[in-house]
Amino acid sequence: MLSTTSRTTLGREKQRGSTGRSDLYEVLDTGLFCHLGVVVDGYPMVVPTGYGRIGETLYLHGSTGARSLRAGDGTEVCVTVTHVDGIVLARSVFHHSVNYRSAIVYGRARLVTDEEERLAGLRALTEQLAPGQWDHARPPSRKELAATAVLALSLEEASVKIRRGGPSDEPEDYALPVWAGVLPLETSWGAPLPDPVLPEGIDVPVHISGRR
Ligand SMILES: Cc1cc2nc3c(=O)[nH]c(=O)nc-3n(C[C@H](O)[C@H](O)[C@H](O)COP(=O)(O)OP(=O)(O)OC[C@H]3O[C@@H](n4cnc5c(N)ncnc54)[C@H](O)[C@@H]3O)c2cc1C
Repeated sequence: MLSTTSRTTLGREKQRGSTGRSDLYEVLDTGLFCHLGVVVDGYPMVVPTGYGRIGETLYLHGSTGARSLRAGDGTEVCVTVTHVDGIVLARSVFHHSVNYRSAIVYGRARLVTDEEERLAGLRALTEQLAPGQWDHARPPSRKELAATAVLALSLEEASVKIRRGGPSDEPEDYALPVWAGVLPLETSWGAPLPDPVLPEGIDVPVHISGRR
């Protein structure tokens, strides 16, 4: 179960909240990118970035020069992951909505210095984008590792909110001649496009071609 703190208590539409850790993992594990919110030099900065999860820890990475990562070390950050599943079209403009699954994680991030944990975090990040790719591609060199910062964030304080279903209109509006319902949004992978300079004879690996 997700523990509810003063920060993660839903104010509005509480029935959309989920306290199941499995829902949190589902939202995180099926996402590709997150948004990292951090205060940099006194102002809020929200950056879209990659992530990966190992157990109860989220890993984020970037250049050692990235301001958001530098500012995040040892400070309170907020990470969100959002999936849009459909647009909810109501009879009135006011009641339009979105079907979604989203997670918000709060906590004090820490810069990972242990080499083993850094590699594990980077592996999780790569596998989040393309499962099977870490073992397929060349591992990072010492120089590349030295240029990469890895931040860790505990999943201890997190919330999940999920909206499903159709519109909810005002009783008198149901008689209006206005179409109402849900327009589902589906995201799918396309056919892999080989790099034009790829030498002949290198086939698309199954872990890539199989994602369609
Ligand atoms: C794709 C998308 C589009 C949305 N569009 C709108 C919109 O146009 N207008 C609008 O009012 N709302 C929208 N929402 C809902 C929005 O995210 C907030 O849940 C809602 O606005 C309540 O915000 P609040 O400031 O009152 O937060 P509160 O309910 O006061 O937040 C308290 C705590 O609840 C948790 N929480 C709140 N919202 C979420 C969430 N979405 N996911 C996970 N945890 C959450 C957090 O831990 C937060 O600290 C949208 C959500 C998504 C995912």
